[in-house]
Amino acid sequence: MDELALLTQRVAAVRERMAAACAAAHRPESSVLLCAASKTQTPATVALAAGLPIDLFGENRVQELVEKRAAGAYGQVPLHFIGHLQTNKVKQVVGAAGLIQSVGSGHLLLAVAKEAQKQNLVQPVFLEVNIGGEESKSGVAPAELPRLAELAESLPGVTVQGLMCIPPKAGTPAAQRRYFAAMRDLFDRLAAQRFSTVHMRQLSMGMSGDFEAAIAEGATIVRVGTALFGPRQ
Ligand SMILES: *Cc1c(COP(=O)(O)O)cnc(C)c1O
Repeated sequence: MDELALLTQRVAAVRERMAAACAAAHRPESSVLLCAASKTQTPATVALAAGLPIDLFGENRVQELVEKRAAGAYGQVPLHFIGHLQTNKVKQVVGAAGLIQSVGSGHLLLAVAKEAQKQNLVQPVFLEVNIGGEESKSGVAPAELPRLAELAESLPGVTVQGLMCIPPKAGTPAAQRRYFAAMRDLFDRLAAQRFSTVHMRQLSMGMSGDFEAAIAEGATIVRVGTALFGPRQ
C-alpha cells in the first residue's frame, strides 16, 4: 500500500475510535479535535496528512517546526507547538505556531508574552499541568495553576485558551482515567473564575494509547502520533 493510502486508512481508524468514544460519552463527534502529533515525520509525510481529515498539527521540536513550516508542509492546517520549549527558542515559535500548548511555568509564560509584545501580537497558549506530579516532567503543579492563570491574566502578550497535560502511564485504564478526571476538575474550576484573557475553551489530553479515556473525561483535543503515522524510528 502506498503511503497516502496507509495514512488515509489510519486517519479513518482513529476517527472511528474517536466517534465511538464520543458516542459512549454522549458527546457530539464535533466536540473533539484531532491533533496529529507529527514529530519525526518528514515534510512530505506531513504534507500528505494535511490533505486528510485532521484538525491540527502538533509539533514538538522547534527546529522541525521551523523547517516543515518553511517547506509549506502544514498547508492550511492550524499548527500548535506541543513540546518542551526553552526560553532561548521562544522567538522562533511565537507567531509561527498558532497556539503554544506547553506553557508550564511563569518563567516561560513571561518569555512568550514578552516576545509576543515585541512582535506586536497576542499569542494564544494553553497552560500545561504536571498532573502526575512527576519530578522529571514539565508543567505547573496543580496547586500552582491558579497563580499561573493570574499571571497570564496580567500579561497583554498572551491569551490562555485552555489546559494540556501529559500524564504518566498508569497501570490500568481506570487509573489513567483518574488523571484525566483531575484535569477536568482543574479546568472546570478555572472556567468558573472571572478572567478577561484566560478562557477555558480547550482541554488537550489523550494520546494514541489512551485517548478514549480522555474523551470520556472531557478532552476537546486529542494528540495522536503513533496511531496515525506508525511507530516512530
Ligand atoms: C508524541 C506526542 C504525542 C503523541 O503520542 P503517541 O503516543 O505517539 O500518540 C502527544 N503529545 C505529545 C506532547 C507528544 O510529544
